[in-house]
Amino acid sequence: MDYQQLLHDVMDTALRAPGRGRPADYIPALAAVDPTAFGMAIATVDGEVYGAGDWETPFSVQSVSKLFTLALALAEGGDELWKRVGREPSGNPFNSLVQLETEHGIPRNPFINAGALVVTDRLLELTGDAVGAVRDFLRAEAGNDGIEVDDAVASSEARHGHRNAALAHFIASYGNLRNPVDSVLAHYYAHCAIAASCRDLALVGRFLASHGVRADGSRLLTRSEAKRVNAVLLTCGTYDAAGEFAFRVGLPGKSGVGGGILAVLPGRGAVCVWGPGLDQAGNSVLGVAALDALTTATGWSVF
Ligand code: GLN
Repeated sequence: MDYQQLLHDVMDTALRAPGRGRPADYIPALAAVDPTAFGMAIATVDGEVYGAGDWETPFSVQSVSKLFTLALALAEGGDELWKRVGREPSGNPFNSLVQLETEHGIPRNPFINAGALVVTDRLLELTGDAVGAVRDFLRAEAGNDGIEVDDAVASSEARHGHRNAALAHFIASYGNLRNPVDSVLAHYYAHCAIAASCRDLALVGRFLASHGVRADGSRLLTRSEAKRVNAVLLTCGTYDAAGEFAFRVGLPGKSGVGGGILAVLPGRGAVCVWGPGLDQAGNSVLGVAALDALTTATGWSVF
């Protein structure tokens, strides 16, 4: 397989699709990004990595980090987590509050903001440093010690974080946070504000294509846990557009409002795309178009 040629062809196809969406601006620091940026990388399970476009430019991972907090919380603390967060698609926007009251402070899934706050709290409880755990994991899997939190993005989000603060306090009112709300929020904003490139994230995503085994051959997740994380990614990883994403792309994937999407190619590797223009649901327009073109061209799918 000529991955390099494949990436160029796929990006050309994606660029012919109409519409680009708009970069997120509810976190003011994110609006400063170049709206025309577009990059893509594939990393294979045996460590080869191929890229095209802006594949080495770091961007704000935002909700892609929710995949890593989930994997690390399961690795450190096992199934206990599932008593505090569900695994059903929410059918609502990622930052919605509405289901939390009727569902007594148990968020629908780990990939909407409410669920991610509970997972961050769990990781903080287990490690004492949730953001450090995520950053160190990314550095190790990508082989890049330059991966860092962008403090300007984290503090920009904190200053405009009324909705996440409301979610966290509401969850705490049901007794579903173990740490102080302010420290859960600080760790959440910081892991969302990690800057990493398509290259980095494609390399990191390989553990989900290798049934839970890390780049150094050690095991992060059991086979069963890795399979379950992939299942939740498929059903919930792209919020209320998860059905459309499964229809067009057919792979487990996690998006973020920084414009990145990390998708798993089971048994083969991982692919990361980045384009800052977002659709209504908060998913990268070019990213979804590129993954659609990739899986259409290759037939890769979990179905
Ligand atoms: N940090 C962002 C928020 O909480 C992440 C959202 C996202 O990427 N969907 O709003």
